[in-house]
Amino acid sequence: MADRTYLDWPFFEPHHGELARRLDAWAGEHLGAHAGGDVDGQCRELVRQLGQAGWLSHAVAGRDVGGHADAIDTRAICLIRETLARHDGLADFAFAMQGLGSGAISLQGTPEQRRRYLSRVASGQALAAFALSEPQAGSDVAALACSARSEGDSYVIDGQKTWISNGGIADFYVLFARTGEAPGARGISAFVVDADQPGLHIAERIDVIAPHPLARLEFRGCRIPASARLGAAGEGFKLAMRTLDVFRTSVAAAALGFARRALHESIAWARSRQMFGQSLADFQITQTKIAQMATLLDAASLLTYRAAWLRDQGRRITREAAMAKMTATENAQQVIDMAVQMHGGMGVRKGCIVESLYREIRALRIYEGATEVQQLIIGKDLLRG
Ligand SMILES: Cc1cc2nc3c(=O)[nH]c(=O)nc-3n(C[C@H](O)[C@H](O)[C@H](O)COP(=O)(O)OP(=O)(O)OC[C@H]3O[C@@H](n4cnc5c(N)ncnc54)[C@H](O)[C@@H]3O)c2cc1C
Repeated sequence: MADRTYLDWPFFEPHHGELARRLDAWAGEHLGAHAGGDVDGQCRELVRQLGQAGWLSHAVAGRDVGGHADAIDTRAICLIRETLARHDGLADFAFAMQGLGSGAISLQGTPEQRRRYLSRVASGQALAAFALSEPQAGSDVAALACSARSEGDSYVIDGQKTWISNGGIADFYVLFARTGEAPGARGISAFVVDADQPGLHIAERIDVIAPHPLARLEFRGCRIPASARLGAAGEGFKLAMRTLDVFRTSVAAAALGFARRALHESIAWARSRQMFGQSLADFQITQTKIAQMATLLDAASLLTYRAAWLRDQGRRITREAAMAKMTATENAQQVIDMAVQMHGGMGVRKGCIVESLYREIRALRIYEGATEVQQLIIGKDLLRG
């Protein structure tokens, strides 16, 4: 469907290109035909399909628990997200949440936690969620207030989480809560909380412009065993950031997928649309627009796969992931806006692909750290020297 010459870039190994091509063929056959309406049911079905076909094995680390490899392969995750997003935004969401929601377990889980959760995530039998944001702690996430009080062999959780993707349909939540070892970021720990744990309530379902399952959670005296803590007490913030290094880069990849689809749709439209006695593609204004779109996309793609490649070499990529996420989401928004414009009235008609891409891309500039937050990360990192 789209130009895939980027698969020959030196960031990739031969198996990466093969993975992307196989997934592209599978997605062409199985995705993109949602009836609309029941978004929860569609997500569950997509997770089941992705699990059954083996794609979710790339969302977890550890061959012993159904993972494709023993370590997270960032480039594979990015290529999968880019490919799925190009075909179907909800399929990308379903894959991404299995990875983001279980990433902290892949990185830091005990053998028992890994056995209990990761194999079900990889097979599509359990849905995962990542519960970090709160009503008063979004960008300023180190200010989170949800508390986990240690009581003997348990922790008792009280507080709220909001904007939680898969909220309401997840089987478990990786939760970040204040345990108070130190002020700020150093007093936060991570936990795995089963969705049916007494004291955990779905307080509100939230609708957004590109619908997917989303909720506000309330914890009222929710008692979990101490063995549900992930990693050391007070180390939860670092674990959240390590998880985000991978998944921020993959948000950039999803943005590339949406933008690549928009470019593809625009080229096809420009060739077929007739006006003033010729095709839209024959006008130089159209040619410059297509050139801008393709260049914005390649620039974003280079930053994204640089970050993914660096992480797979074992390097710290906080700055590179921030550059990739910021550039890819901002560039994709521009590319998609140009695609809508080029489609004229058709561009805003419900059911037109570029109309749905226009809604899909918007939240990516906000979640997992808004563009302004990425700028702060990059600037501070450079000034620190
Ligand atoms: C669709 C969707 C899905 C989400 N899924 C999840 C999820 O699964 N799990 C989860 O934990 N969270 C999730 N989130 C939450 C998301 O990560 C937050 O919305 C995001 O971090 C921004 O926080 P906020 O909404 O509180 O905005 P705010 O933090 O209130 O930010 C408002 C504005 O202020 C800007 N800003 C921030 N800092 C500065 C500064 N220093 N100077 C100037 N301006 C600044 C921001 O860039 C933004 O433009 C999701 C959000 C959305 C919209």
